[in-house]
Amino acid sequence: MPVKSNSQYSLRLNTYFDGKGRVFPLLSLIILAVFTPLAIKNLIIGEHALGTLILIFVCAFIADAHALIKGRALPIHEHIIATLAISCVALSLFTLGAGTIFWVFPVSIIISFAFPLATSILFNCALLLTATTYVFLNYDMADALRFFFAYLLTACSVHLLLKHIDALHTLLKEESSKDALTGALNRRQLNLFLKDALANKVHYHYDSTLIMIDVDHFKQINDVYGHAKGDEVLINLVSDIREQIRETDLLFRVGGEEFVVLLPNTDLKTAQKVAQKLRANIKSLALLDNQTITVSLGLCASADDLTQTKWMNCADKALYAAKQRGRDRVCQYNLHHNRIEDVAA
Ligand code: GH3
Ligand code: MG
Ligand code: MG
Repeated sequence: MPVKSNSQYSLRLNTYFDGKGRVFPLLSLIILAVFTPLAIKNLIIGEHALGTLILIFVCAFIADAHALIKGRALPIHEHIIATLAISCVALSLFTLGAGTIFWVFPVSIIISFAFPLATSILFNCALLLTATTYVFLNYDMADALRFFFAYLLTACSVHLLLKHIDALHTLLKEESSKDALTGALNRRQLNLFLKDALANKVHYHYDSTLIMIDVDHFKQINDVYGHAKGDEVLINLVSDIREQIRETDLLFRVGGEEFVVLLPNTDLKTAQKVAQKLRANIKSLALLDNQTITVSLGLCASADDLTQTKWMNCADKALYAAKQRGRDRVCQYNLHHNRIEDVAA
């Protein structure tokens, strides 16, 4: 289930602990299982302040974790959770002594994973200064320096690791959303954007139009000029279509030489002009030495009672009609009259 909260904290956690929440519930369980007995133990031995603080931390963390897993906004601000965690470590150091210093490291690592860089540096510095001060006051300068650099090394290593994970994550997202040859978005992305466009139509009455584009006689181009040249044509077509559409319009490759352009928040009249402009422009490109390349296009505007499949089918039917009626033309599926019409050049 996608996380709906806008919090940076939840977005970052969601990235590492995955949107389906498989790892995050486990982490929450570990925190519950480890810190609740610890809080109770401290209450029993008379460390009431520390026991209560740990209990507050556990409750706040579990409340946020539950919201995160359910995809709701976080009830407690993430900075409060981090401050509580650091306060627990500081209080345990100054009340129970050096044996609790080991908690500094997992807390630092979780903070680095959970927060954006600037915030995680801030919290890590607070934790580092508190713990180093404790070591300096209770031991000596040499131990304080030893601790300081051990912490710094840990925090920097975690940061480098996170940078690497971030880069891999971005790359993976890119590769899983785009077609390798042309860089256009792939079919999986199309389904997501169609869903959004239909929801926008129902909830906000935003019109969107789907344009299906198929290269005419592409097989022949491959046969005459070779597959590599065919690939080159597809790449050039995509970059030309991109130049002709707005930044907010979306281009997908849905088949070998079939593309879809989704024009969000665009009425049918504007979409007709865009489709004709695309058709005329592609025809004017000199992509092959001795042959003009043309495309056929099928249009269909969004409607309230439309499903993704029906929307695609209607655009496909309009495209098929454009092929049947001679290619190098634009047809549209009129949902009101259930018929296919020519779109004037
Ligand atoms: P029509 O005008 O009816 O669309 O005819 P067409 O030849 O374009 O359509 P057809 O479906 O018969 O052929 C599509 C061709 O596209 C066949 C296939 O070899 C080629 N094709 C599919 N994917 C790629 C690709 O990635 N690169 C290249 N070069 N060709 C591809
Ligand atoms: Mg074709
Ligand atoms: Mg085709």
